[in-house]
Amino acid sequence: MTNPDLERKVLEAVPTGLLIGGEWRPAASGATTKVEDPSTGEVLAEVADAGPEDGMAALAAAHEAQAGFAAMAPRERGEILRRAYEAMIGRADDLALLMTLEMGKPLAESRGEVTYAAEFFRWFAEEAVRIGGGYATAPAGGSRFLVMKQPVGPCVFITPWNFPLAMGTRKIGPAIAAGCTVVIKPAPQTPLSMLALGQLLLDAGLPAGVLNVITATDAAGVMEPIITDGRARKLSFTGSTGVGKILLRQCADKVLRTSMELGGNASFLVFDDADLDKAVEGAMLAKMRNMGEACTAANRFYVQRGVAEEFAAKLAERMGGLKVGRGTEEGVQVGPLVDAKGREKVVDLVGDAVENGAQVKVGGRAADGPGYFYPPTVLVDVPKESRLNHEEIFGPVAPISVFDTESEALAAANATEFGLVNYVFTENLNRALRVSEKLESGMVGLNTGLVSNPAAPFGGIKESGLGREGGTVGIEEFLEVKYVAIGGLG
Ligand code: ADP
Repeated sequence: MTNPDLERKVLEAVPTGLLIGGEWRPAASGATTKVEDPSTGEVLAEVADAGPEDGMAALAAAHEAQAGFAAMAPRERGEILRRAYEAMIGRADDLALLMTLEMGKPLAESRGEVTYAAEFFRWFAEEAVRIGGGYATAPAGGSRFLVMKQPVGPCVFITPWNFPLAMGTRKIGPAIAAGCTVVIKPAPQTPLSMLALGQLLLDAGLPAGVLNVITATDAAGVMEPIITDGRARKLSFTGSTGVGKILLRQCADKVLRTSMELGGNASFLVFDDADLDKAVEGAMLAKMRNMGEACTAANRFYVQRGVAEEFAAKLAERMGGLKVGRGTEEGVQVGPLVDAKGREKVVDLVGDAVENGAQVKVGGRAADGPGYFYPPTVLVDVPKESRLNHEEIFGPVAPISVFDTESEALAAANATEFGLVNYVFTENLNRALRVSEKLESGMVGLNTGLVSNPAAPFGGIKESGLGREGGTVGIEEFLEVKYVAIGGLG
């Protein structure tokens, strides 16, 4: 139920400045930028719009805080994260409402994301005290090897709008656990969740300068000087592959460590030995979570001929029955897309497929009126060369193609430069493992439509990225290995 008073209260509680050195301040130029509600187009808030000077001030603050923070006891760093986790769970309703207002997803999904985001803090609170090392004797005897792990140093994070909190906490959590300071720039569409999180972390006892939050519409102009300065030692980026490549080139200048979570083009394979109801359930999750605005979203459905018609009919029925509307309203399951550009892309991709012969089973036409709504859509007979099969849709559109053999399905799934995740539905154990091994992706959803979990290593291969977030390897991305050769022991 939409509650304007509550919305106002939640919006008014969010800091609107830049968080630099533990203090909130306006942009040096005084510039601000507007944040809009994608379901109405109305302005929700105005936040500071940083320029290069502010970015460098944030970098200086992170650099200055680095040595002191690295010396803080791991338990203490862990306890800051633990308190932040508790605070996020305690304030889940307000954080969820804020997220729905700026990003559009239904409240239930926002609540889910708040929990998911908070879980990264809980996980890395536990990891902070498990940073190990090694001591060994050289194979030839005599000298010894001492291996220690140390924080990589100040980090730069750039995050997208689709998961405004979780894409931040999965970077901030391990950075804090490892003893690294941070400059983070959230996406201009959804800065409010990150600004709220900045204050929450200060309240949880994070020392000044450890987390610096800058909101900037001129992302390139503000971030490039920070990345190429040399004081930051790591960049972690989640966003499009195109921007990721630009950033990788910038990182080459001072040889920064990088973690890249880039685009995806997930296939969703349904074999005729699958449990079809399970497959439809998985498809709903893999396709419709976040309105399809996820790099893990199922982008291409390949269904074996014997079950293709039944699968398409069941999926179309479920997709067509979803309630579309403003995410704050009771019972809404599908919110608007994030902005006009996002919706235009979906309209273009569906138009291209239909022009080339795809059939619309359900949806397929953007709604009129305010807000960037697009209806859940199922397409069948989608020609191979359709743009939908090669580009990230980032919307609630399920294109279905038919295949006959396992090798045909694998060839289709792997015919992309992306390699983040693929989904497989089959009840045949040998096929499940064989196909999982042959899929070219960092992750596979086997009889499940959801792979994300803070305790598991998330990430892609090929042009979907570098490095992993979460799991036991997540913290390693923020640690340097130092080896000390010890002689003189005799
Ligand atoms: P999307 O198209 O989904 O918005 P982007 O990759 O463009 O994805 O954006 C992800 C994040 O990267 C956002 O925070 C955005 O502001 C930032 N960004 C975009 N272009 C650049 C750039 N040239 N340099 C640094 N950050 C950028």
